[in-house]
Amino acid sequence: MSKFTESSYRKILKVAKNQYIFNGSQTVGKKNAIWRHDVDVSPIRALKMAQIEKEYDLKCVYHILLSSIHYNILEPETSKIFSQISSMGHEMGIHFDFDSNINKLDILEKIKFEKKILQTMLNIKVESISFHNFTLNKENIVYSKRILGLRNLASNHIKRNFDYISDSNGFWNDISLIDFLEKNYKNIHVLTHPVWWSKEDLLPIQRYEQVLKDRLLDNLISYLKIMQTEGRLTKIAKRIGISKNLLKKYNINIKNYD
Ligand SMILES: [Zn+2]
Repeated sequence: MSKFTESSYRKILKVAKNQYIFNGSQTVGKKNAIWRHDVDVSPIRALKMAQIEKEYDLKCVYHILLSSIHYNILEPETSKIFSQISSMGHEMGIHFDFDSNINKLDILEKIKFEKKILQTMLNIKVESISFHNFTLNKENIVYSKRILGLRNLASNHIKRNFDYISDSNGFWNDISLIDFLEKNYKNIHVLTHPVWWSKEDLLPIQRYEQVLKDRLLDNLISYLKIMQTEGRLTKIAKRIGISKNLLKKYNINIKNYD
């Protein structure tokens, strides 16, 4: 059984590296692997994958969903994570969601807007684009090779020249990625979502749950840390219902809690 763990990811990368050239989505000749991650849910898991890929010196593609309900590129922590991923040499791009266009702006205007935000926040060149909920939005997908200068990974060109596999929903549909690599295709387009890859071997829904729990805890701790400055937490801990045990659990030290 093919697992969605970090150690199994390392094994997969070893096999893939022996066969393919990893150069983001900028491809030449044969044997290219466009190794893409759509970060729908978890920048933290994306960072972990980027670090593992860096161990093997691979250039992969990270697409950021600006309209994610789970993270926000304007958050300092999130933009820091994506800057780190970019500085490892990975390619950054936009993961565009047609449904986020609630005011029915011109699609190209909306993409241009997201591109501007990403480039400003990360101080990088955005190079490629893909689309969120691809099948739901099939009618809207623009199939041209480039959109606003960005390489379009949903283009007919990519579809024609690259064999494709995706880990959608946290499992492999027909064959596993490792079996897919054995097919020895000319060019491959591998899509993974960082939320589906975890340290331990878990069921897909448990992986998703774990990511959300971690995020919740991070947010709560960051609130407590802010309250901790200037002694505010000492004054209000009891009144807002924070017990000594809770502080211990979150590793927060405050003075004079009686
Ligand atoms: Zn997506």
